[in-house]
Amino acid sequence: MSLFITSLNSGSNGNCYYIGNKSEAVMIDAGISCKETEKRMKRLGLSMSTVKAVFISHEHADHISGVRVLSKKYQLPVYITPATLRSAGIITEKHLIRHFKADQGITIEGLSVFAFPKSHDANDPHSFMISSNGINIGVFTDIGNCCDHVIAHFKKCHAVFLEANYCENMLMNGSYPYILKKRISSDNGHLSNTQALELFTKCRGGHLSHLILSHLSKNNNSPELVAQLFRQQASSTNIVVASRYEETAVYCIEQNNVDAYHSKENYLSPAQLQLSLF
Ligand SMILES: [Zn+2]
Ligand SMILES: [Zn+2]
Repeated sequence: MSLFITSLNSGSNGNCYYIGNKSEAVMIDAGISCKETEKRMKRLGLSMSTVKAVFISHEHADHISGVRVLSKKYQLPVYITPATLRSAGIITEKHLIRHFKADQGITIEGLSVFAFPKSHDANDPHSFMISSNGINIGVFTDIGNCCDHVIAHFKKCHAVFLEANYCENMLMNGSYPYILKKRISSDNGHLSNTQALELFTKCRGGHLSHLILSHLSKNNNSPELVAQLFRQQASSTNIVVASRYEETAVYCIEQNNVDAYHSKENYLSPAQLQLSLF
């Protein structure tokens, strides 16, 4: 069985990642409006009825701003740690709140979601790996450095949403105040292109079919630069750069590393894929 993944939006203006099989899915973060989430899902041929839960990585607005309306409208359980919830405030109806703990997998029908702590300037931030039938998808954004957890999980993944937040030269020579430059490049800030590239080149497994570079800075990075940088080292991995303005295509991830890349032009809905792949 395959997993279908997409970034509905990625960047400091909002993050929302979809990971699912043909009948159920989870969202990691809900940082764009409910309306925009629905619109983008529809454009991709995905249905909100497959979404069974939302997992929240941390309390920054670009990860939670859409969760209240989305979870209420679809009565979606929201998985969040108690500390993140305290920092986030009221994000949904009480009966929809669920808690998770690091290193304890949560099963959502056919999917299991495993959380582990990450380095970021939030109260209790976590990264996630979503697994089903031996396929692992990582969501590793808003990380100040590649800790041992990130490295160990990256090696296991068939596809990863990996932060490539900034180009060091653009950040250091740019107009941000010194204190902000320090915060972004600190161990609790964001991952640079170089740090992400090092992780990719040193730690990828042979089964890594898709690397989706995520959470690019608007002012301190460029999608063209990131694409060029990573494609030079891509080998058999498909390199995708997630946008801060629109959804990516839906990518079909399979265990056997068959290249199942679908561009938006020849995108097939999960139902169609089911007919063509199974
Ligand atoms: Zn963020
Ligand atoms: Zn953040």
